[in-house]
Amino acid sequence: MEWHQEKLLSLCRICGAKIKDHKRKVHASKLSDEVTKVWQVSVLVDSPSVHPSFICVKCRLICGKREYLEGKIKTAILAKTWYPHSENCTVCVSNLEPKQDKPSKVKKAKVDEGEHDIATRRRKCY
Ligand SMILES: [Zn+2]
Ligand SMILES: [Zn+2]
Repeated sequence: MEWHQEKLLSLCRICGAKIKDHKRKVHASKLSDEVTKVWQVSVLVDSPSVHPSFICVKCRLICGKREYLEGKIKTAILAKTWYPHSENCTVCVSNLEPKQDKPSKVKKAKVDEGEHDIATRRRKCY
C-alpha cells in the first residue's frame, strides 16, 4: 500500500503518465476548477491513497488554454480513472522500476552462453 502511494506521487492525476518534469508539475487542487471544466472530474473529492496529487506539465498547459476551458476544443487526453490498490493493481505493475539484481544476472547468463558458443565452435574447427 505504501508502495502504491509512492507510485502515485510520480504519476499525473489526469493522464496517468509518469511525471518527468517535477519542477513544473502542479498540485491537482490548484487546478480543480480547470480540471472540472475540461475533464468533468472533481479532484476535490480525491483520496490521496487512490488518486495522484499532481498534474503533469502537458495537462497543466491544457488547463491554461481558454479554448479548452470554454469547451470549444475537446482535449485528446482522457482523464484516467483511478482505483484503489488491488491484487492486480495497474498502478503498481505498470511503472515498475527494473530490479537492481536482474540485469546483471541476465548479462552473466549471456556471457556464459557466449563462452559456450565459442567453445563449441572451436571444437568444431578442430
Ligand atoms: Zn498529465
Ligand atoms: Zn497498487
